[in-house]
Amino acid sequence: MEDHYYKTFFEKSPTAYSYHRVLLDDEGIPFDYEYLALNAACEKLLLLQASEVKHKSFYEIFPQGWEGEYKWKDMLNRAIMNRETTHFDIHQVSLQKWLRVTVFSLNDDTFACVYDEVTMEYVLDKGIEGFLKVNLDMLCVANTNGVFIRVNKNFEDTLGYPVKELEGKSFISLVHPDDIPSTMEVIDELKEQKSISGFINRILCKDGSYKYLEWRSQPNDQYIYASARDITEKRLEEIKLLQLTKNLQEQNEELNELAITDELTSLYNRHYIDQIIENEMSRSDRYNEPLSMILIDLDFFKRVNDTWGHPTGDEVLKHTAEITKNNIRKSDIIARMGGEEFAIFLPHCTIAGALVVAEKIRKLLESTEHPIAGVVTASFGVAERRKNESFYSWYKRVDEALYRAKEGGRNRVVSADNQHDVPVASVRLEWKVEWESGNTVIDEQHRDLIKQGNSLIYLSLSNAGYEQTLQQLNTVLTHVVDHFASEEEILSSIGYPGYERHAQIHTGLVKKALELKEAYQKGELKSSAFFSFLVDDIIIGHMLHADRGYFPYTQNKQKQSS
Ligand code: GH3
Ligand code: MG
Ligand code: MG
Repeated sequence: MEDHYYKTFFEKSPTAYSYHRVLLDDEGIPFDYEYLALNAACEKLLLLQASEVKHKSFYEIFPQGWEGEYKWKDMLNRAIMNRETTHFDIHQVSLQKWLRVTVFSLNDDTFACVYDEVTMEYVLDKGIEGFLKVNLDMLCVANTNGVFIRVNKNFEDTLGYPVKELEGKSFISLVHPDDIPSTMEVIDELKEQKSISGFINRILCKDGSYKYLEWRSQPNDQYIYASARDITEKRLEEIKLLQLTKNLQEQNEELNELAITDELTSLYNRHYIDQIIENEMSRSDRYNEPLSMILIDLDFFKRVNDTWGHPTGDEVLKHTAEITKNNIRKSDIIARMGGEEFAIFLPHCTIAGALVVAEKIRKLLESTEHPIAGVVTASFGVAERRKNESFYSWYKRVDEALYRAKEGGRNRVVSADNQHDVPVASVRLEWKVEWESGNTVIDEQHRDLIKQGNSLIYLSLSNAGYEQTLQQLNTVLTHVVDHFASEEEILSSIGYPGYERHAQIHTGLVKKALELKEAYQKGELKSSAFFSFLVDDIIIGHMLHADRGYFPYTQNKQKQSS
């Protein structure tokens, strides 16, 4: 190419060029730089006139020099001396421009410069720097290998490491060991370019403590832009609260356990049975599943206490509880009902099955010797619950069977089913003086109901047909309903304070009686169960026991009127 082409190229290039001679001092060290030539683009960029600056030195034109990020003069001199190419960024103060200067040496004492304006880059960077500074959050840029690239001052303030120490450091190395798996999972998600918020981990501080940081991170290819907040205080409060709640729960559970277990034997207590039995019974009714009960009473236990002392008696109770508990199914429920009396409730178990279980336990007790008290046997009553039978009636039957086991010589199992299909109150009901309420209307009705009960018992023993039985049941039911109504009226008129509660009990009983009647009509219920409810629960159980609560009021009224 001919020379004038180069000249034209140099002159017209949109890139700024300048051409210099280095000025050396006595010791051969460069101290200034003479302008030999600059192109039009350079004139425009530096606001110089080529003709004016030619043969003038750099410091003649720019007495204050240029400032740079690096020691640009050293770099420039080295490049000249070593005939190398180099570049650096400098700030031209009077022009307020940032320039990226590429320098290359031409021969021993001349070199050329190429200029790019990078002011925008610097403004942006300074802006970001500003944001990093003013933001209250901890801000950082990291890469997906887990290395901090940039962090702001807040990182230093929170964690205690100088910014320079954090930049280039692996932040994974600062994560609490227990939080590393979850942190790695989050990094994997960030690698898949998913943003994350609300992630919490613990980060090691310079002083060896850990801080809880909550992160919000935005991935950008290989980089992660993240902000973090120190939530240590809040988190510790939460943890304290959680611990407190947990302790309270545990205490509560312990208390509940205490309330439902017998302290001596660790079996359930009567209170627990009261809590669960309604549920067990209605489940058995709903699914037509059998439900049996075994009642156990130790034989001549008073003698154990009298002979060996109460503590040994206690030992024997524990021992018996242990043996019994170890020989029933998991689904069976065993409780100490009080004193030396235990009950086992066996879901899904018929009378036949329950008799086998009872007999097994009886034999075990008979063949086990207590180290001090020797052999202590027990008597057993067993009953399968009838459909819709009340707990009261069921318990009474099993208790009667137990009584017969005692009567028959103890150390034996007796089934309540010997009196199959006969209502519990198989004896004739006789009117007693203590049943007098003092109110003539009520007493008359009560007497009538006793009579009705007896006719039911009679009917149940006489194999009456369905129609006749139903008719009698209906008659009794009507009498009961009529009686409840007039009793309520009387109680209300004398101002009996338990009136409302009493009326509620009436409603419940009538409701139950109607349900039983329906079940009986559908053939789901033996007539004996219905009899049993009317006789045991209504006539005896309620009228002659619950009703006594108001006797003082009716009797008082009678005294007043006479
Ligand atoms: P049986 O049942 O065979 O008719 O005779 P028994 O001697 O067991 O009769 P009863 O049921 O009347 O007596 C039970 C005794 O159990 C009365 C009481 O001293 C004793 N007892 C009740 N609770 C405890 C207890 O917690 N510990 C001890 N050691 N004895 C108790
Ligand atoms: Mg006993
Ligand atoms: Mg007893």
